[in-house]
Amino acid sequence: MAVSITSAIFRKDGKEQELKVVEVDLKSYQSTYKNNLFCTTPDCNAKLAFVFRTAKPSYFRTWKKENHTEECLFHFERIAARLGVSAEQTISVVLSSERKKNALKEAYRLAKMSDEEKEKQKNKTKKPNKKKPKTIGKKEVPAIKIVSTNEEEDVVEGEKVKRGPNILKRTADAFNVADIGKHRLLIGEIKDITFSEKSAFITTIWNRSEVLVKFEEVFFANSPEYNGLFHNIERYINEYQNVILTAIGEVRRNRESSGYELVVFSGDGFTIEDMSLQALAAHYSRKSLE
Ligand SMILES: [Zn+2]
Repeated sequence: MAVSITSAIFRKDGKEQELKVVEVDLKSYQSTYKNNLFCTTPDCNAKLAFVFRTAKPSYFRTWKKENHTEECLFHFERIAARLGVSAEQTISVVLSSERKKNALKEAYRLAKMSDEEKEKQKNKTKKPNKKKPKTIGKKEVPAIKIVSTNEEEDVVEGEKVKRGPNILKRTADAFNVADIGKHRLLIGEIKDITFSEKSAFITTIWNRSEVLVKFEEVFFANSPEYNGLFHNIERYINEYQNVILTAIGEVRRNRESSGYELVVFSGDGFTIEDMSLQALAAHYSRKSLE
C-alpha cells in the first residue's frame, strides 16, 4: 500500500486533461507532458514529475521544491520525501482528522467494554501511593482480543478518495504478520514510556503481548506542538493504572525484539484514556495552578 501519485492534470495552452500514469511513457513525457503536469486535488496545483520504472509501475512524484496545499492528500508525501522516508509511511493522512478522532474514540469504547469484566474484580481506582506496582498491565482475567475485520482496508491509489478508509483495530495481542506495512489502530495499556527531545517510545501491553509505539522525527515534523509534552504521560501512568492508549500508525517488525511496533505520524493519531496529549497536558497545567 503506497500513497504514490498515479494520476495528474495535464495543463497546457489553457486546456486541461486528467492523465493516468499508464497513459504516460518516457517519450511522451519528454516531448509533451514535462513541465505541464499538476496535482489532481482541487486548488492544489502542485507541479508533478513523471518517474519511469521498468520492473514496477511508474508513478508521478512531486516536482522538486513544489508543495501541496495542506488539505491535499499528498501533502505529507512531500514532508516524508524531504525526511527521506518512504511514502508508505504517510498513508494515514488519508484519514481526515475527524475520522481519526472517531476511530480512536470507538476503539477506546471497545477497550473499556472489555475492561468491564476485569473491573468487577478490581476497581479502577487512583493508586494509594504514586509508586508504580510491578504488576501493571498483568491481568488475572484475560482481556478480550479486539480484531476488526469488517471494514474496508485500502484506498484506491491515485483515485480521488471520496470516503476515507476505516482503519482496522487491533489490541496489542492481535497483531499478525499480515499487518506489517499497513496502518492499524492499536489498543493497549501503557506499560512504560521513554522520551527525549525528538522521540518518544511507549510500550503497550494487552494479554501479555507487547507492542512498542514510536513517535519519531516525522511525528514531530508533522506535529511540532507536541514537543515537550510526553512527560505528562509518564506522570499520568504513575498516578493511574490500566491507562489505555489508542494509536493509529504503521505496523513494523521491531528489529531488536522481533515483536511488532507501531509508528505514529501525527498528534491527532493517538489518545491517552480518550484524551489527546494536548488535553492531558492542559489538565496538568491547570492542576499546577490550583
Ligand atoms: Zn496536491
